[in-house]
Amino acid sequence: MTAAHYINGQWVAGEGADLITVFDPSLGQPFAELKATSAAQVDQAVAAARQALPAWKNVSASQRAAYLRGFAEQIDQRREELITLQMQNNGKPRHEAVVDIDDAVATFNYYAGLAEQLDARQNRDVPLPVAGFTSRTRLEPVGVVGLIVPWNFPLVTSAWKLAPALAAGCTVVLKPSEVTPLIEQTYGQIADAVGLPAGVLNIVGGKAETGAALSNHPGLDKLSFTGSNGVGSQVMRSSATHCRPVTLELGGKSAIVVFDDCDLDQAVEWIVAGICWNAGQMCSATSRLLVQDSIADALSERLKTALETLRVGNPLTGEVDMGPLTSLAQWNKVNEYFAIARAEGLRCASGGDVLRDSGWFVCPTLYTDVPLTSRLWSEEIFGPVLCSHRFSSEEQALTLANDSRFGLVATVISADLQRAERVANALEVGHVWINSIQAVFVETSWGGTKGSGIGRELGPWGLSAYQSVKHVTHCLG
Ligand code: NAD
Repeated sequence: MTAAHYINGQWVAGEGADLITVFDPSLGQPFAELKATSAAQVDQAVAAARQALPAWKNVSASQRAAYLRGFAEQIDQRREELITLQMQNNGKPRHEAVVDIDDAVATFNYYAGLAEQLDARQNRDVPLPVAGFTSRTRLEPVGVVGLIVPWNFPLVTSAWKLAPALAAGCTVVLKPSEVTPLIEQTYGQIADAVGLPAGVLNIVGGKAETGAALSNHPGLDKLSFTGSNGVGSQVMRSSATHCRPVTLELGGKSAIVVFDDCDLDQAVEWIVAGICWNAGQMCSATSRLLVQDSIADALSERLKTALETLRVGNPLTGEVDMGPLTSLAQWNKVNEYFAIARAEGLRCASGGDVLRDSGWFVCPTLYTDVPLTSRLWSEEIFGPVLCSHRFSSEEQALTLANDSRFGLVATVISADLQRAERVANALEVGHVWINSIQAVFVETSWGGTKGSGIGRELGPWGLSAYQSVKHVTHCLG
């Protein structure tokens, strides 16, 4: 077995019971195998991170920034190999794989920039109302952090955690998804290439057992998790057991609200991107379309045409707009929702089935006038399945949009910018786009309200998530 895991600066073969098979979802065929790490290896990784912590947190933040700049450069240099791997293992169209690389590069550069400012921000005096006292603020690393990530944007979700954690002075144990375990190996190779001290970054591949061994480990100071709500609850429970902080980036069932004054063709472009990017396997997929009565039929017609003209196929053999679903489990799950839709008697305007030729492809799908009681209206499907529902007033649109146990993102489309701003302010979510595709900037925050999670990534908030605030107060006597 290949040495696929990175512990204390060494590449080691997994010693766990699980065998991980890595698939090309366009073909439904395996192309690599590796053994998962064992609980003992997770232990070694946490111990290595603990040992590396004192030196790493005492390196100046500007020195840490230099390593992060090195990560950004190295990702850029490995661009072609990473694009190919994401096409082969995730099934991402080439242009989407490119966006992920650019995002990861931007993330490491951004947190390098924040780290470069961090030394000057240390030990700032706090103005106090009482004479005879002084106090200074220190921003210290939280310590050893466990990072558990999913498979849908492997390079990006890992960058969003790794870059701020390393910038803050934390040491980390990263657990990539078993579906896409090769992509994050690149971060280990880069750690070698930039001479990151051993133990600062450890990567332990594996399935649920490895994730549980990490999230239950008593040696962590914090856990940051991105993934499903089911596993997120378990991770939160183990954090409660150890009484330690946790960041959770979970699922969504986001709304895209379309008012009748919009440019219909432009709206179609944003709606399709919001549900078909990454074949709909996005926590932020805007899978609930709320459309104003008077344009509902015209919009469905245009959406049907747009969805049916998307080029769905293997990204490695031609230019495509949408690839396959990334795993057989996800393909089965989306297929189950198609069956539920049939059983519920939903009105299918387009798609509504899997493609059975080869690989794990499904049709981009639109259900119209979906009842609010439908499971497809309220549950996260994680595929290119759009459900629409009509509204007549702004107030009704808002009530419907906010009627979800999730609260990750939303999109508002309207020519009336005052109305769009008003609606954006009232939406119970972490990020709203107005008349836009889902442009994500590393400078702005990412995270949700309600069942979509706890905490924020990106921006300065992403760095704060890995910092502990300390004050040193003197009585001058
Ligand atoms: P998942 O919860 O099944 O797995 C996520 C990670 O947790 C994987 O690395 C997995 O191996 C690990 N894991 C599984 N069982 C575990 C356990 N018992 N203890 C600890 N770790 C365990 O999620 P997924 O299928 O990989 O990803 C899809 C989900 O992720 C969707 O719900 C999606 O909305 C969510 N997601 C959220 C965001 C966000 O920013 N909010 C971003 C991407 C994905």
